[in-house]
Order: sequence, then C-alpha cells, then structure tokens
Amino acid sequence: MNKSIKELVRKHNIRTSKSLGQNFLIDDTIVKRIVDSARISADDMVIEVGPGVGSMTVELAARAGRLIAVEIDRHLIPALTENLAGFNNVDIINEDILKINIDELIKAQTEKASGIFKPGNVKVVANLPYYITTPIIMKFLEESTSINLFVFMVQKEVADRILAQPGSKDYGALTVAVQYYCKPERVFDVPPHCFIPQPGVISTVVRLKAYEKPPVDVIDRKTFFKVVKASFGQRRKTLLNALYNSGYFNMNKEELKELLRNLDIDENRRGETLSIMQFAKLANSFSEKDC
Ligand code: SAM
Repeated sequence: MNKSIKELVRKHNIRTSKSLGQNFLIDDTIVKRIVDSARISADDMVIEVGPGVGSMTVELAARAGRLIAVEIDRHLIPALTENLAGFNNVDIINEDILKINIDELIKAQTEKASGIFKPGNVKVVANLPYYITTPIIMKFLEESTSINLFVFMVQKEVADRILAQPGSKDYGALTVAVQYYCKPERVFDVPPHCFIPQPGVISTVVRLKAYEKPPVDVIDRKTFFKVVKASFGQRRKTLLNALYNSGYFNMNKEELKELLRNLDIDENRRGETLSIMQFAKLANSFSEKDC
C-alpha cells in the first residue's frame, strides 16, 4: 500500500493542495491501526471524510457493509476511483462535507442499499483536513442523530483540547461540545513521516463514542451552548463579566450575580473552571425570556 499511494499520486500527476489540507497517509501499519480502532464490521455503514486518493478507503471498503467517501477535490477522484476498482459497496461523493445534510445522506444511502444492507451502526472515520477540523466535528455532533462512533485523526493540539479537563489551558468550547455528545478517547499519535507531504505537526487519532443520552440534563441545548460560548469568549474575565459582556442574555449584572449566587457558583471564577455539569446547571437556570 505504501508504494501504491506514492505511485498513484505520480501516475495521476497529483499536486497536493496545502489549502485543502492534503497530507496523504503512506504508512500501511498506521492505516490498519486506525481502521482497527473503529471496529468495523459488515453491518456498518461508514462515512469517510476526505478520502484523498484512498489511503484508508480501501481498508474501510474491505471491512464495511457500505462506504460513503466524501471528497471535495475533483482532481483526486480519478485516482481514488482507480484505487477502489473491485469494490461495489462504495459511493464516492465529490462534495464539500460542510454542505452536506448528514442525516439525509445516511437516509438516502440506507434506502439505496435497502434489501441488501441495513446498517447496524453508522460510523465516521477520517483523517481530517486540519484547516476545518472544528467545523467538521461540530457539524457531525450537532446535526446527526444516528452516528454511533467517530474515529478522527486530528492535530495533536486539537486532541488535547477534545480530551481536556476543567481548569486546564486546553479546556474550551470544543471540549465541552465533544464531551457533551461523546465519550472521547486518545488512541495513538502519528508522526509526520507517515504522510506525503509531511505535515508540520504531530497528529493524534481520537475515538469518540456517541452517548445515547448526554451525560448531563440540559433543558435547552441552544442556551447551554450560548452559556458555554459566553464563558469561554473572554477567558481572562471572571465568569460574571464574561456572561455579562457577551450580550447574549437579557439580564443586568445584578441579576446575573443573583443567578450565580443561587447556584453557589462564585462570580469571580473563570468560566474555564466550570465542569460540564455546572455549565448545564447554569444554562438550566436561565428562563426563556433571559436569552
Ligand atoms: N484520507 C486521506 C489520507 O488519509 O491519506 C487524505 C487525508 S487529507 C489530511 C484530507 C482530505 O480531505 C484531502 O483529500 C482533502 O482534499 C479533503 N478535504 C478538504 N476539505 C474538504 C471538505 N470540505 N470536504 C470534503 N473533503 C475535504
């Protein structure tokens, strides 16, 4: 496999695009370890974001019942198609993943394969383009209701943010969002020499197991994420000032103070020290007219 990716790139005269985050995996062992970590079986429908020329796609297609590969760069499609010749369970979609309605895609693919295949699980596996890692992760978390597992390769710094604990420098809105929807786990690090061209950063594979029910009770998800965004918006300010200055809430400072006091949350704390449970309690104490 190692050799064939380089060969495919050469044969199809592919010039990798930095602006599309193209770093192709060339290490067969790493590919196997990533795909192994998704524990894919013939019952699974797998969505791969950014298949490139198919470094992981072939291994995914060999194990999944159905594979949907969404690649934005039309220049890569001929090489990808050549690499996948011989598989009849793959759909290549030449589209920007951010423009796709994920639930509709899953529904359409399930219907298309009906009679032959009904997915037991829907999984997403991706070596993500690093320039839009957060928007892609957030899109999947917020929009899709039927995905059980995500295996993402991200920049190590992003993995640290996903896995962070309250009070640490890496803890932020991405941490809370991911940990609200999923149980995250670090799988392993991948050094730059496993890719062509080599990225300037260490990469990390993370596995996110989606909760059937979030670990905290939130009355209104929009308010919860508004509170999270406000609290991390001004990291150097106290929680009270960050909430007040965000302008998201129809409350004066005294009213906000009172709300925090009633919850036994010190107004001088920094928002980044709050646990997900505390964010949920705080969000649940705002009434509809306050937001
Ligand atoms: N999966 C391949 C591998 O492991 O070698 C390629 C990974 S490369 C880091 C990221 C891939 O995502 C590239 O093929 C790039 O063209 C594609 N990509 C970038 N932006 C995208 C978008 N918005 N939608 C879909 N694919 C995208």
